[in-house]
Amino acid sequence: MQSSSEKTSWFPIMLRLDGARVLVIGGGNIAANKVRLLVPTGARIELLSPTLCPELQRLAEDDVLTHVPCRASAENMQSRLSGCRLVYLATNDTTLNRALAALCQQANVPVCAVDDPGNSSFITPALSTRGAVQVAVSTGGAAPVLARRLRAKIEEILPAGLHLLAEFMQNARQPLRERLPDPSDRRQVWERFLDGAGSALAMSGQTDAAKRELDTLLDGHTRQGEVWLVGAGPGDPNLLTLAALRLMQDADTVLYDSLIGPDILNYVRRDAELIFVGKQRSRHTLPQEGINAELVRRAKAGERVLRLKGGDPFIFGRGGEEIETLTQAGVPFRIIPGISAANGCAAYAGIPLTHRDCAQACLFITGHAKADGMLDLAWETIALRSQTVVIYMGLIMLPQLCSQLIAHGLPAEWPAALVERGTTPQQRVITGTLSTLPAQAIAEKVTSPALIIIGEVVRHRVQPAP
Ligand code: SAH
Repeated sequence: MQSSSEKTSWFPIMLRLDGARVLVIGGGNIAANKVRLLVPTGARIELLSPTLCPELQRLAEDDVLTHVPCRASAENMQSRLSGCRLVYLATNDTTLNRALAALCQQANVPVCAVDDPGNSSFITPALSTRGAVQVAVSTGGAAPVLARRLRAKIEEILPAGLHLLAEFMQNARQPLRERLPDPSDRRQVWERFLDGAGSALAMSGQTDAAKRELDTLLDGHTRQGEVWLVGAGPGDPNLLTLAALRLMQDADTVLYDSLIGPDILNYVRRDAELIFVGKQRSRHTLPQEGINAELVRRAKAGERVLRLKGGDPFIFGRGGEEIETLTQAGVPFRIIPGISAANGCAAYAGIPLTHRDCAQACLFITGHAKADGMLDLAWETIALRSQTVVIYMGLIMLPQLCSQLIAHGLPAEWPAALVERGTTPQQRVITGTLSTLPAQAIAEKVTSPALIIIGEVVRHRVQPAP
């Protein structure tokens, strides 16, 4: 058993005791102190003591507790411990308290030997109670007198009507929940209520006036909207993060790209508004500026807007532009990363992105041509043998990409692969070389989205089990 000199870190909890059997050993004032705490909990109190102080005597006569008129001993305790929730040991016989404490601990029944934390498995803090509000002070059994002094100070500053305030808030909880389903909205309203006139009204028992105050706050409550920039991964819903899933369940509105398939949208909250803002080559549903403006407009209107993007929002996802706009407009936002196409496609195709033998680096580049139809890339740094090159949005420019890489020094037989609709049930993987891949893509009628992986890692491909 723990000795009282050792440092113990006590864990504070509130215990429910209604209907539970609780044992109190001892019939003096100390026992009475504990019984006084126990009575309002609705516990079934059994008290063992040959004698009772007047207060306990009265409680026994009123049937608030059951008095067993005998001196507690190991023998008569043992049978009483089964089904017992708590034991207070409050006799003035320390040796007896200790022996009984050991018995309780053996039986796994929480025990408090009064003034002896070393032989207790729980202790009782000094309590200030105002109705439902309880403030507990504990020194971990180190200095009960200090705890009581502190409690006296707290008593001084606790407003008299605190119990009425707690009661008011308790009663308003359910109606408020119905009017404001979102917990963060309710939190905001309660904070305003407590900081404003409402709390004083409720504490002085002016319930109707307090109710009006709460109604005013509810009517004027404008929700703070925000934008969540969330990566949905490359297609397989199993690759969604837990954070993405949670926000998909919380959002009011979802603005999603063409890369987001129905399998992913399935996970969005049923009554959320879904808005397709997909960008498909040459068929821009909503230009980027329009998307940015829409995000701001909706967030300002109090909506929690989910901007759902394929892969990762910060990898060729224009996430940077969107957050710049949001920052300028003062709209709060969150960013949740996603598994990018490179990671998803490589894993599901069985092509490692780096490999100790042949690829010490991995480059993610865009194969999207500029407005003039030209590719503006640093070919010297791309056409290196010791690395893997992953090309996003490169399908259209595949012939130029391959011929440029050959022109800048990579062999025509350099391994290359295409992953079409990676991670989805429609995934296709086509492997070849820089000289063969463009023709293979045409022959196989590869369509977007497709990812190009170039480098010797393609030779290390191992097909994962389906
Ligand atoms: N932010 C995204 C990339 C958007 S750019 C990400 O991190 O993955 C769009 C390009 O990503 C497509 O043209 C294609 O090259 C690639 N892509 C996205 N999803 C893909 C998938 N499931 N299979 C193959 N390529 C994909």
